[in-house]
Amino acid sequence: MSVLALLKATRALHAASPEMADFGAWPTDLTWADVPPVRCPAVELLSKLPAGLPLLPELIAAAPLLEWRRTYTADEVGQDFLDRYGYVELFGPRGAFHSTQLRGYIAFWDAGLDYGWHNHRAEEIYFALHGTPLFLSKTQPEARLKPGQTRHHTPWEEHGMQTLETPFFCYALWRGDGLDALPRLTQ
Ligand code: ZN
Repeated sequence: MSVLALLKATRALHAASPEMADFGAWPTDLTWADVPPVRCPAVELLSKLPAGLPLLPELIAAAPLLEWRRTYTADEVGQDFLDRYGYVELFGPRGAFHSTQLRGYIAFWDAGLDYGWHNHRAEEIYFALHGTPLFLSKTQPEARLKPGQTRHHTPWEEHGMQTLETPFFCYALWRGDGLDALPRLTQ
């Protein structure tokens, strides 16, 4: 099953990053949740990324089997944004693999997208696999993230992200209270 190959590749990446491994131990309660697939136009854009990126070959192979999500509506973020981003919850309360211990996402935003101010109760860490997005926050300095670097958000921290010149491809984790909730735009 190719989703299992994606999970294994993600586990290896997780173990290889001290920041991600420190943020949350790899879940011990994973069970296949048999979530029906949902298509997403941004999947077509994954082939524009450099082929050797971590998780990318496994993600492309598994893409038709995954429930691709977009949290927002066109009224909130515009149709162009919706057409050029998407993410999967690989494991978590509503993930392809169920877990109540930790929530893991693989996400993609194309170049030139502005993800406005938003927040969520759960604590979060991003691990950049490709791109140099600008991360904004109301409570910590902004930063351009480089591949291999992480960005942490505390519970309810208002944050935003601009992809600028390059697509942004990442692995992200949530932990703590609010694990099964969604982010919401704050402006
Ligand atoms: Zn966030």
